[in-house]
Amino acid sequence: MRKTIVAGNWKMNGTTESNKALLENLTAGLNAVDGLVTLVCPPAVYLAQVKQQLGNAPVAVGAQNVSAQPKGAFTGEWSLAMLQDLGCEYVIIGHSERRSIFGETDNQVAEKVAATLDAKLIPVLCVGETLEEREAGETINVVSNQVEAVLARVGIAALANAVIAYEPVWAIGTGLTATPQQAQDVHKAIRAQLAASDDSVAENMSILYGGSMNAVNAAELLAQQDIDGGLIGGASLKADEFLTICAAAA
Ligand code: 13P
Repeated sequence: MRKTIVAGNWKMNGTTESNKALLENLTAGLNAVDGLVTLVCPPAVYLAQVKQQLGNAPVAVGAQNVSAQPKGAFTGEWSLAMLQDLGCEYVIIGHSERRSIFGETDNQVAEKVAATLDAKLIPVLCVGETLEEREAGETINVVSNQVEAVLARVGIAALANAVIAYEPVWAIGTGLTATPQQAQDVHKAIRAQLAASDDSVAENMSILYGGSMNAVNAAELLAQQDIDGGLIGGASLKADEFLTICAAAA
């Protein structure tokens, strides 16, 4: 059974005070719905605060990145054991901002996904094409290579425990959204790629859309057959918008 997931990627935003208010508004308005996972991914320095404030609220917590290394001399990094220690369940991996600004390669992304699966946390593997790649007709090729890099490293059976997020780079933070059909086409292609290895893994994989998803456009995107939720940036910082998206997904 495919899970529907609405995930907020807070990116590098928030303060102790603003997090507190956001979570209060979020938990006050959230209706727990069977089959819907609500997830927030704050900056790592606030994971403990967020986890503690959420208590037993039906909201899962994830990190925006993690080291593939278990421990040691890696200044500025944090480990999967640390995320487990804090009660984190999910880790966003290979976000386009990690790839383009911090130079993460397909190989590093694959190592991080492998380590996350080994630690029994759920990786949210992000893939997506740039505008130039889309205009060159390379979208499916680019996305399928990104998926293949991870598939080749971890294998289809392990990948069954991951989530995939399709985030066209040109739609992130730009106010430009993929049309429902553009998004559906890529989601369908990702599912077909997985089906070539294992039909049931493909059928059960949650594939989220990300890129300027908001309270207005969410319902139409989420209505597509192969779109199983959203990875929300800007709109996840406003409780009412995020709740509207959750309601559209429920
Ligand atoms: P926006 O929703 O702000 O476009 O960001 C999307 C994203 O990158 C989520 O990971």
